[in-house]
Amino acid sequence: MLRSVVRSISRTSNRFYSDVAHPKITTHYTVVPRESDERWKEVNMERFEDEADVVIVGGGPSGLSAAIRLKQMCKKNDLDFRICVVEKASEVGGHILSGAVIETKGLDELLPDWRNMDHPLKTPVSIDKFAYLTETGRFNIPILPGFPMNNHGNYIVRLGHLVKWLGEQAEELGVEIYPGCAAAEILYHDDGSVKGVATGDVGIAKDGSPKSTFEPGMALHAKVTLFAEGCRGHLTKQLETKFSLRDNVAPQSYGIGLKEIWEIPAEKHTPGLVEHTIGWPLVSMTMYC
Ligand SMILES: Cc1cc2nc3c(=O)[nH]c(=O)nc-3n(C[C@H](O)[C@H](O)[C@H](O)COP(=O)(O)OP(=O)(O)OC[C@H]3O[C@@H](n4cnc5c(N)ncnc54)[C@H](O)[C@@H]3O)c2cc1C
Repeated sequence: MLRSVVRSISRTSNRFYSDVAHPKITTHYTVVPRESDERWKEVNMERFEDEADVVIVGGGPSGLSAAIRLKQMCKKNDLDFRICVVEKASEVGGHILSGAVIETKGLDELLPDWRNMDHPLKTPVSIDKFAYLTETGRFNIPILPGFPMNNHGNYIVRLGHLVKWLGEQAEELGVEIYPGCAAAEILYHDDGSVKGVATGDVGIAKDGSPKSTFEPGMALHAKVTLFAEGCRGHLTKQLETKFSLRDNVAPQSYGIGLKEIWEIPAEKHTPGLVEHTIGWPLVSMTMYC
């Protein structure tokens, strides 16, 4: 049946694609190795190499907290480790978009004196509201003790500002941060253990050939490489596959967070107010906050 449908479609359909031969498209050298690609024959691909004690991939809350804690431990134990963070955003915090309500336990443990510093957590939560919405109405629901919507003691902040500030704290402790550097490849020792990462090459044309501006990425070797790329990082996923890290473990679960910025009349703005709603405009009991 399927075969006869396909045959009748191919009899009646016209060809709308071009017959012109296109140059071979190289997607990535891990797919089509450059050694067997004529266009890369004379190109110098030697990478500049650098060595650190710890390389951290990703300057988000996790990567920067790890860097800060490591430096604190170095200070405590009179050690001077070179700790480098590579961050693909052009500035620290640049890719951190979530507007967040922050529970400060982690920060209290990391930087116990943060409240006395010039920090970005300026807006404590003062009012929590929870409601079921219909298209035309609103039913308030009390926030009982133990409900996750109880945000008293937490702070409203743009997470990017907190991350930028964490970056400043890390640099003050001596962490080297390299914004604008995406780790593009994991490097391995001969025994298969992780040696470090390489940052992305620049100056490659759309068809995968080298441009005159081609510069190979830099190899960063380290005793320890820490991957803090966030949710579903592309290098982390390679490591998960190579080292079977997700075998026999519970599947990861994800929630989708959407950020909307609303412009509202100034008189309606209540600093410190957090609204949680379920119902309209979403179907069933989806939570919106
Ligand atoms: C819409 C939304 C709302 C949220 N609201 C809240 C909230 O209210 N409260 C709360 O506590 N949490 C909230 N979160 C969750 C919070 O944002 C995350 O838990 C947190 O950002 C995770 O930190 P992370 O450092 O693990 O990863 P990320 O924040 O994702 O940081 C990863 C960093 O690594 C960089 N990076 C990734 N790959 C590479 C690479 N190969 N090379 C170099 N750099 C790389 C990225 O640019 C990024 O800067 C929210 C998330 C979203 C999306």
